[in-house]
Amino acid sequence: MDALKPCPFCGKNTGSIRLRNMYVPSDKSVFKDEYEAVCLNCGANTGKIYSSAFVRRNGKFVFHKDGYAEAVAGWNRRAEPEAPSPEEPGDHKNSDERREGND
Ligand SMILES: [Zn+2]
Repeated sequence: MDALKPCPFCGKNTGSIRLRNMYVPSDKSVFKDEYEAVCLNCGANTGKIYSSAFVRRNGKFVFHKDGYAEAVAGWNRRAEPEAPSPEEPGDHKNSDERREGND
């Protein structure tokens, strides 16, 4: 499981994945829950709900979709600063001022 990155807004390490809702239908064949990623310090969130789904197969719930991991990934994507444009090496003019250190 990936660790949550620091909050992009307040910089604190208080990102958290919160369980919002759970759905257990009467036939209990499919189990769903919803997560949101939120900062416990400043309340920043990804503005998106990630849902998990489990399907009962042979008496066991198996992951159909992992909403928790998606929420973590969503938070980390948001926490990631914009990819800096790599500096073009050709843009830099070579400075010809090279010191001759022969003293
Ligand atoms: Zn925050």
